[in-house]
Amino acid sequence: MTPARFAQLRDKINARHGRSHDWRKRAIKRLMAEAGATTQLTAGRVLSYRLPSGKFVCVKHRYRNETRANEAVQQINLETDGRRKPIRAYPCYFCNGWHITSEPR
Ligand SMILES: [Zn+2]
Repeated sequence: MTPARFAQLRDKINARHGRSHDWRKRAIKRLMAEAGATTQLTAGRVLSYRLPSGKFVCVKHRYRNETRANEAVQQINLETDGRRKPIRAYPCYFCNGWHITSEPR
């Protein structure tokens, strides 16, 4: 399974708002089994999924490049209020994409 396909199916599962947390957990487990994926943990939290090809799919949303990630930082800041806001984009060496964060450097 390609990283893009894995991410697409994962996003579909997470978008099922009517379903319980346990349902999503089981659906992700099934997807991981189907893809032969393992998890990469940091401080006990899932950071990314590793596919048999050695490629990674991060839990965080992946942006294709720095421009897209910076646009997302701006857009989210315009649309959200009060909650923790992203302040910067950074490159990810696992998925070779970009992520955004509210953590200062
Ligand atoms: Zn990543």
